[in-house]
Parts: sequence; C-alpha cells; structure tokens
Amino acid sequence: MQRTLLIIKPDAVKKKVIGKIISMVEKEFAIRGICMKTLTPEEAKKFYKVHEGKDFYEGLVEFMSSSPSVGVLLEGENAIYRLREIVGATDPKKAKPGTIRSLFGTNIRFNAVHASDSPEAAKYEIPFYFPNWDA
Ligand code: GDP
Repeated sequence: MQRTLLIIKPDAVKKKVIGKIISMVEKEFAIRGICMKTLTPEEAKKFYKVHEGKDFYEGLVEFMSSSPSVGVLLEGENAIYRLREIVGATDPKKAKPGTIRSLFGTNIRFNAVHASDSPEAAKYEIPFYFPNWDA
C-alpha cells in the first residue's frame, strides 16, 4: 500500500468543487484523512521550495497561502502514479478529458489540485496537512 497527498487548491475550494473532486478519488482510493487549512506564506514557500527561483514561484506561494485549501490523504496500490493519472497534466488545457484538472482547472497556476509526484515528495508533503502521518 502506498500513501499520497492530494491538495484541493484555493481556486477549486472557491469554485465549490471539493465534493466533486473527493467523489472522484474516493472511488479509487481509501481516504485516510481530510484537512482544510490556509497555508502560511512560510509553509507555502517550504512546500514548493523545489521551484524557488523560477518565475512563477512568488505567485504560486501567494496563491497557495491566499485562502483555504483541502489536504486529502489517500492510500492504495500504486497510489502516487494512479492519482497523477486521475489529476492530469499541469496545464489544464493539456490535461486529458475527464481528468480533475481538465474538468476543474482554469490555467497553469489555477489548476485545481496538487498530487505528490514521488514517494520522497509524499513523505515531505503529507505532514504539511497531517503532522501525525508518514508516507
Ligand atoms: P505539478 O506537479 O503538475 O503540480 O507541477 P509542478 O510541480 O511542475 O509545478 C507546481 C505548481 O506550480 C503547478 O501545479 C502550478 O500550479 C505551478 N506552475 C508550474 N508551472 C507553472 C508555470 O509555468 N506558470 C505558472 N504560473 N505556474 C506554474
């Protein structure tokens, strides 16, 4: 079994599609936790530190700490890869039809969700929303 973190980003929370997104992943994975919180700017910076220095970094940090997001802790066989498939490409315009980003994303920044992309990333990211859980 593998755990991964899905984040329903502030744009999707504002669009009121939390339920629709959770319903899509609930069919595929066991939900181990749900946590709504507003990341502090410091947390958002740390969360996305791999992108530090890129032109979109400051805007991304500002967006992610602007209003509440929802962390969803998921568990299942090969969960990291399978969730990325359901989420779709970073740019919603390039995401396959039926994926979460194609359905609910607006553009490359406001792309509705985040999903951990490796076991190392899951281990790093899960505690931002679930301090008592490990990957
Ligand atoms: P992900 O793993 O598919 O979320 O993509 P990345 O790890 O490459 O990027 C993290 C997040 O940064 C993405 O989900 C986007 O919200 C944002 N992002 C990535 N690339 C760009 C870009 O070129 N422009 C803008 N504005 N945001 C970006």
